[in-house]
Amino acid sequence: MEPQADIALIGLAVMGQNLILNMNDHGYTVVAFNRTVSKVDEFLNKEAKGTKVIGAHSIPEMVSLLKRPRRVMLMVKAGPPVDEFIEQLIPHLEPGDIIIDGGNSLFQDTIRRTKYVESKGLLYIGTGVSGGEEGARNGPSIMPGGSPAAWPHVKEIFQSIAAKVDDGVPCCDWVGENGAGHYVKMVHNGIEYGDMELICEAYQLMKDGLGMTADEMSQVFAEWNKGELDSYLIDITAKILAFKDTDGQPLVDNIQDTAGQKGTGKWTVISSMDMGIPITLIAEAVYSRSVSALKEERVAAAKKLKGPRPKISTDRAKFIEDIRRALYASKIISYTQGYMLMRAAAKEYKWNLNYGGIALMWRGGCIIRSRFLGKIKEAYDANPKLTNLLLDKFFKGAIKESQRSWRNVVAIAAKKGIPTPAFSTALNFYDAYRSARLPANLLQAQRDYFGAHTYERIDKPRGEFFHTNWTGHG
Ligand code: NAP
Repeated sequence: MEPQADIALIGLAVMGQNLILNMNDHGYTVVAFNRTVSKVDEFLNKEAKGTKVIGAHSIPEMVSLLKRPRRVMLMVKAGPPVDEFIEQLIPHLEPGDIIIDGGNSLFQDTIRRTKYVESKGLLYIGTGVSGGEEGARNGPSIMPGGSPAAWPHVKEIFQSIAAKVDDGVPCCDWVGENGAGHYVKMVHNGIEYGDMELICEAYQLMKDGLGMTADEMSQVFAEWNKGELDSYLIDITAKILAFKDTDGQPLVDNIQDTAGQKGTGKWTVISSMDMGIPITLIAEAVYSRSVSALKEERVAAAKKLKGPRPKISTDRAKFIEDIRRALYASKIISYTQGYMLMRAAAKEYKWNLNYGGIALMWRGGCIIRSRFLGKIKEAYDANPKLTNLLLDKFFKGAIKESQRSWRNVVAIAAKKGIPTPAFSTALNFYDAYRSARLPANLLQAQRDYFGAHTYERIDKPRGEFFHTNWTGHG
């Protein structure tokens, strides 16, 4: 058969299949391949029946069907399977051909693979694809990085299958060299952890503090979704709370309170440690999942460890509004921290990140899509060199308006013994960030006392170090 296909896609699990069908809808001819080859025919005879999708039963056959430069996209399990496929592909490809990894790969792996694949004369793209199954089928957010020379060859396909916002602007643009795309996708996932945790804290305050029913809370979230919190996660939360189990009770009440995680939140926190950037809200979100997993210990501790009763007696409508504002302010802090991290990583890895463009990519198609991201885009459009989102006029004003409510919620939650790790850490970060002087002077003194680690003085230039013999001995 003559080479006729625009792109090959390896990996016929949920993401791969849906991306193929999405590409097919947009007029591209896709060759499908999978490690377990029987799945190729299953796919062609079922989900892809009646489409232009072509099946390949071996890598050489797949490659022979592709127009040049050949584009081969992997949607396989992240980790060694990606390296294994790269090794299998290299002997069959020619200079200028492009290998694309659309899985959730660790950005360091993508940095390594870009270098390796380029050393073989080929081009490489590591791209974040967000939006789950539904996004893959109808328009995901796509965050590509890798070999810049590859971008012009995939731009049209990626932008046509990506989600669109406003007047048709695609949620896909070039992110940067080597691992930049996967890094931005990783931070996106970390922010997703944070957004979910914030919603869960609002839910617990309403449920345990105000004694609200799932239906009442569903209405509150639906109402919130009409305003500045308008987002996919708030929307699905309203729907989840309204959903009834077969017994007519809210399904959410019958779900075990132990959360799982696949690792991208953890990676974000690990990277923040490497960069020295306080990404405290995402860290608390990751740890909250860890605490939730200690179910048996918690059940045992609940019988022994006493605290205040959670019931909050206050004007209910007013307190619900306080929670909404606390959530909004905390969300601003979370995105501020996420952007601080990307800024530091861009410096470290020499990526020229377009911060407004990143907000636009996240604006539609992905799990964290929200109206709010439009405001972040506006902030970076107004000042591309903005050092911190909190210093933008809009966000500074938003925090000012929410601050009283935010402090009230954190204080009442502490008094009533309702855990709000993300709301609280966000407020702590805000107060620390706006402190011209923190108690680290004492900390430096302690370090110098026990370890002669030296300190700088306020009356001397930075970079000049002093040591004191604190005990007067020796
Ligand atoms: P998945 O379950 O992560 O992976 C299944 C695919 O990987 C199958 O095609 C499987 O082939 C292949 N595979 C597994 N182990 C392999 C190995 N050792 N060697 C070769 N191939 C192997 O599929 P997915 O959920 O569709 O996700 C694909 C990628 O997208 C992942 O990196 C995932 O993290 C990322 N992602 C997923 C979502 C989501 O919502 N699911 C969202 C965004 C990104 P066989 O059929 O032969 O087993």
